[in-house]
Amino acid sequence: MTDFDLLVVGSGIAGLTAVLRTDPSLRVGVIAKGPLERATTMWAQGGVAAVLDPSIDTTEAHLADTVAAGAGLCDVDAVRVLVDEGPELVRGLDAIGVRFDRDGQGRLLLAREGGHSAARIVHAGGAATGAELERALVAAVRSRGVTIHEHAFAVDLLVEHGRCGGVRTLLADGRVVDLRARHVLLAAGGAGQMYAVTTTPVGSTGDGIAMALRAGAAVADLEFVQFHPTALHHERVPKPLLSEALRGHGALIVDVNGERFVDELLPRDQVSRAITARMNDLGVDHCLLDVRDLADFVTRFPTIATVLADVGLDPTVDLLPIAPAAHYLCGGVLTDLDGATSLPGLWAAGEVACTGVHGANRLASNSLLEGLVFGARVIDAIGRGVDTCSMTGAMRALDEPRPPWRTPALLPVDPIVGHQPSVDRARADLQQAMTLGAGVLRDARSLADTASVVDGIDGLPAGVAGWELANLRDVASALLVAAAARTETRGAHARRDFPSTDPTLARRLVLS
Ligand SMILES: Cc1cc2nc3c(=O)[nH]c(=O)nc-3n(C[C@H](O)[C@H](O)[C@H](O)COP(=O)(O)OP(=O)(O)OC[C@H]3O[C@@H](n4cnc5c(N)ncnc54)[C@H](O)[C@@H]3O)c2cc1C
Repeated sequence: MTDFDLLVVGSGIAGLTAVLRTDPSLRVGVIAKGPLERATTMWAQGGVAAVLDPSIDTTEAHLADTVAAGAGLCDVDAVRVLVDEGPELVRGLDAIGVRFDRDGQGRLLLAREGGHSAARIVHAGGAATGAELERALVAAVRSRGVTIHEHAFAVDLLVEHGRCGGVRTLLADGRVVDLRARHVLLAAGGAGQMYAVTTTPVGSTGDGIAMALRAGAAVADLEFVQFHPTALHHERVPKPLLSEALRGHGALIVDVNGERFVDELLPRDQVSRAITARMNDLGVDHCLLDVRDLADFVTRFPTIATVLADVGLDPTVDLLPIAPAAHYLCGGVLTDLDGATSLPGLWAAGEVACTGVHGANRLASNSLLEGLVFGARVIDAIGRGVDTCSMTGAMRALDEPRPPWRTPALLPVDPIVGHQPSVDRARADLQQAMTLGAGVLRDARSLADTASVVDGIDGLPAGVAGWELANLRDVASALLVAAAARTETRGAHARRDFPSTDPTLARRLVLS
């Protein structure tokens, strides 16, 4: 007897879109490790990419831009699904009360971002798109009568007879229970907390990917971590973004000696690499952004001005400390075009998944769209009676050769909740090692050195802090295997020892 027809792990755009699409007669549950509204989705700024004005744009152009960004690794069928099905789903957000920014005639305001050949980004509250989406999604889900477990931590997937049958969960009251379900949807987001400098919130610990790995599901593309070049280098978590718009308006990047060393208008990954190389040369952990000559800073960049005021920086006087920050994980749990994983009963959507739409590098504002489109497709497929994955989309990579992988040991489940100093120390060590050795620039030596730190993390106590660290370790360990195996530079993966792209590696590396 199962508790649920569908159990969703995660309350960001992917998980909540799925919940809202289910038939009301189904028994649906949703688990989130904090309050529902505290998902990474809430932090998203720029917007959602979709072709909403066919008089100025086409889905063919959106597809071409996405594939160009993906550096030869996008699954074109998955991208076709993304660009074709996205517009209707974005328009459908009106029905749950999402208030996108509009002009005086009520037409959607469309912005253009780097890598897009047309203005196709819908946004809300200027740069508060994620907060508006999450507000509306959470309100709609709360009024729906599904079972909601907040402050509930998914520890591991239950696997019996080769099928995922539920989730072992630490509930808010301290009990560890096995929640049994006919279908489980992983929508648990990314793993930016593998790095010391990241724009992602503290809960982005790769729990979904780690659980899938331990359950034997295939994962792919973990070596492709997108870094944002200009995060504010400050103690704040997550690191605030100092948007590209500043550089577009004339902000200059200088090193700690005040010297310019990079064309500020190059694409994100090239700016990140130049900043990292300069930091490494000088043995420092940041560079500086000079915005002192930008006129009307406070009125033109009100959100950034507020952040700077909060941390005591004056943009008219101070140089702003910056460093590249881990921003988005392109890879994840391998899925087919319906979001089915290689483990029957287990589905994945959103940042936790590898649908193949991002390839080796994500096009800006395609990730919210991916959560929306594939969150919906999972429910449609379950509704059609689909039960196992098909060899479609990124799943076709299962036929490719795989690098060696050691199976991490499952941790004992004994609910001792609370942070312990040794766990915090080990987490900081992992983050530091990953930033230095497996960050923007990598090579065989740095990856091996990092692996010795990451794989040395052992004997963790049970409880949320220990489990999160174990998950970070397992995902980082898998990332290091993939990054070492990819002996080339492609998209977001830059190897110092292999600076060129190798056409024979234009394929997905699958770990399972
Ligand atoms: C600063 C910033 C700006 C961004 N701007 C944009 C943008 O403008 N456009 C765009 O397209 N993308 C943007 N992104 C990326 C985008 O926000 C994310 O990729 C997307 O929101 C991920 O949504 P998701 O549904 O996959 O998961 P998330 O929103 O990350 O939600 C994950 C959920 O899983 C739950 N969870 C995780 N682990 C567990 C566990 N063990 N047990 C129980 N629950 C768990 C969490 O509680 C949470 O509810 C931005 C990201 C950042 C950090």
